[in-house]
Amino acid sequence: MSTVTRILVVFCALLVVGGTARAEKTVKVVASISIIGDMVKNIGGDRVDVTTLAGANVDAHAYEPTPATAMSVSKADLVVVNGLGLEGWMDRLIKASGYKGTVVVATTGIKPRKMKEEGKGHQEVADPHAWQDINDGRLYVDTIAKALISIDPEGATTYATLAEAYTKKLIDLNTWVKSEFSAIPKEKRRMITSHDAFGYLGGAYEIEILSPMGFSTESEPSAGEVKKLIRQIRKEKITAVFVENISDPRMIEQIAKESGVTVGGELYSDALSKPDGPAPTYIDMFKNNVTKIVAAMRK
Ligand SMILES: [Zn+2]
Repeated sequence: MSTVTRILVVFCALLVVGGTARAEKTVKVVASISIIGDMVKNIGGDRVDVTTLAGANVDAHAYEPTPATAMSVSKADLVVVNGLGLEGWMDRLIKASGYKGTVVVATTGIKPRKMKEEGKGHQEVADPHAWQDINDGRLYVDTIAKALISIDPEGATTYATLAEAYTKKLIDLNTWVKSEFSAIPKEKRRMITSHDAFGYLGGAYEIEILSPMGFSTESEPSAGEVKKLIRQIRKEKITAVFVENISDPRMIEQIAKESGVTVGGELYSDALSKPDGPAPTYIDMFKNNVTKIVAAMRK
């Protein structure tokens, strides 16, 4: 081989490598909340680069985007949101960022729970916390996988394979959660959390959930409502009382103290924990929450 040929061969090899690198360009996905961000990572694998807006331990209801947030949205290939009124800040953010791409609503196709909220003219509002029912979580996975395939068709096989493997894990998780709760007598399946984030969990596993605050963390209960809840905890001997990772624990600590019960620990409601915490993934969140809830109900 002559020197010129050798140089040409090397040059062509570099072109091939460069070409491959370009084909493996990652899809930039912005996820509104950490739970959805974790799902996208599970379904997208190495093909996606995920930025989560309301990250670990952040209250998505009260989240405030920054100019840096708008910058990451403007560079996104795909934006995934929960919908059902969770991210009241999202429309403004999308507008400010100038993002013109697809916005996927992960709760598409889910039948929302509805509740009359006080302070909103008693109109019915949708409960946005659908991820707390694993069956609905599986619908999130289907919607996200379809969105990734449509934006990056070359990765279709990867996305379909990863989504299938992840769904299998969620099916196993659901079987475990069901068996844990079915071991608790029906009359003990009652729990208190600061805001009403666990209605879908209650619906799926026959648990009665009582919360001094409504669906959003931005509403404040009246002193009368808090007193009524304390009376109910005492009368019905409710033992499962929890603080949440995204909310101020003081109200629940006070309610527990006045009711004579011990707080059963911290539940992960609307956000995951940091990587070194007990709930860094959607699956870990269920393992953490269900273990704590079941232990408190057994008291
Ligand atoms: Zn919430």
